[in-house]
Amino acid sequence: MSVSQIRKFLEESVQKNITWRRIRIMGGEPLLHPEIELILTLFDSYGKEHPQTEIELYTNGLSKNRTIPVPSGIKIHSTKKTGKINSLFEPYNLAPSDLSITDDFGNGCWITSDCGLGLNKYGYYPCATGAAIDRVFGFDIGLKEFPMSEEKCSEMKSILCAYCGHYLCGGNYTTPDSRVSLNMLEPMTKSWVSAYAEYNRKKPELMEGGRL
Ligand code: SF4
Repeated sequence: MSVSQIRKFLEESVQKNITWRRIRIMGGEPLLHPEIELILTLFDSYGKEHPQTEIELYTNGLSKNRTIPVPSGIKIHSTKKTGKINSLFEPYNLAPSDLSITDDFGNGCWITSDCGLGLNKYGYYPCATGAAIDRVFGFDIGLKEFPMSEEKCSEMKSILCAYCGHYLCGGNYTTPDSRVSLNMLEPMTKSWVSAYAEYNRKKPELMEGGRL
């Protein structure tokens, strides 16, 4: 996201009187953003004016920018990545629609209630995972303004969750030991194989969220 998009997000939050319980700055690796110092300053100022909002930075701590000073109002969380395989993460590239599951998908999974909305340069999504799915599949459905209704999120979930492995994990986080049957489907089902092939050939062009 550009600095101007982040400013717009913070201003929209104030204008619409939205009280965030928590804002997580995540990537990829946020410390690789070329303007991360300014971005952290913006969030820190917002946090000072809205002390009820926790601001958190998720980093693996390995980037060349790890020495960047993080304001004391921003809590640092380690994503604990030590390699490409992270057993704590649920399988992701497994599309329920490839497994003949024909649900409506509009209710999504536990992640929306535990982790909240996702926002990237293409707009708001019901979850950060959904935002990542859209980047690869190119549905281009990110909302350019904060979704004030649950229906909007359900419409997006009806599209995105059909491609999401989290949907197969049930109502709660699934431990590595209890996902044996899913592990057998990994690393990805056929929709993902073709979506990544197409992505590597030509990345989808999605409309970016508003700038100031
Ligand atoms: S199943 Fe995936 S896309 Fe759907 S709500 Fe859960 S994490 Fe988001």
